[in-house]
Amino acid sequence: MENVLIQTIGLTKRYGTVPVVKSLNLEVRGGEIFGFLGPNGSGKTTTIKMLTGLLEPSEGEVFICGYDIRKQPMEAKAMTAYVPDQPRLYGKLSAREFLHLVAALYRVPKDIIQGRAEQLLDMFGLQDRADELLEGYSHGMRQKVVLASALIHQPRVILLDEPTVGLDPASARQLKDLLQEMARQGVAVFLSTHILEIAERMCHRVGILKEGVLIAEGSTEELRQKVGHGGESLEDIFLELTGSQENAELIESLGE
Ligand code: ADP
Repeated sequence: MENVLIQTIGLTKRYGTVPVVKSLNLEVRGGEIFGFLGPNGSGKTTTIKMLTGLLEPSEGEVFICGYDIRKQPMEAKAMTAYVPDQPRLYGKLSAREFLHLVAALYRVPKDIIQGRAEQLLDMFGLQDRADELLEGYSHGMRQKVVLASALIHQPRVILLDEPTVGLDPASARQLKDLLQEMARQGVAVFLSTHILEIAERMCHRVGILKEGVLIAEGSTEELRQKVGHGGESLEDIFLELTGSQENAELIESLGE
C-alpha cells in the first residue's frame, strides 16, 4: 500500500511457550503519528523491539519502508530511529560530542555532521549547555539529547517507547510539537504509551493493545464508533477494555 512505512504481518512473540504479542497486523504511513496504547505489560516494548530488529519475532514479518527487517536489516535500520524507554547515554561525553558520535555510527558524511548537529542543538534548546557532560543533565534534558541523536541520520521512521514518562508538561509539549513537525515532513511516528490522554493529544491514530492483542484501532472518533456503546466516551471504552486504574485516576482528575 502506498506510503506505508511501518508494516507488520502476523507479528508474534513468545517467551518459551507464553505468547506476549499475538499476530499483530499494523500499518503506519508517512506523515502519521500512531499511538500504541496499552497498560503496562501488554506487549508494547516487545513490539517496538521487534520493529527495530533488536528482538527476533517468533512468527510474522516486519517491513520498514518496504524493507524486510530480517532479510534487509541494514537498509531497514538506516531508515529508523529508536528512542528506548530508558535510554543510555555516555555520561562522560558532552551533548555535542554525543551527537557527533551517533552521527559517525550512522555513517553520516563528515562534511554534513557539523551543520546537522548544530541545527539539532538549536532545535532542542541545548546550545547553552552543549559542552557540559551528560552526567550532569536532568532527565528531560537527557531525553532531548536522545531525541536529537535519533534524528541525526534523518530517519523516515521514529519509534518511541513511552517518551513522555519523566517529562515535565513543558517538555511534553515540546515533544508533541517536534513529533508533529517530523510528521509534517513525512516521517512515520510510532509511539507507545500507557496513558490515554497522551495518545489522544499527540496522535492521529491509536491502536489499543491488551495482553498482546490489538483490540481496537483507528482515529479516536472511529474508535468510539467501532466500539459502538453509544454515548460512552473513549475513556470509558479504554477503561472497559483494559481496566487501567492509572487512566481512571487521570480521567477523574480531568473532570474536576
Ligand atoms: P509493555 O511494554 O506493554 O509494558 P512488555 O512488552 O515489556 O510490555 O512486556 C509484555 C509481557 O512480556 C510482560 O508480561 C512481560 O513480563 C513479558 N516479558 C517481557 N520481556 C520478557 C522476557 N525477556 N522474558 C520473559 N517474559 C518477558
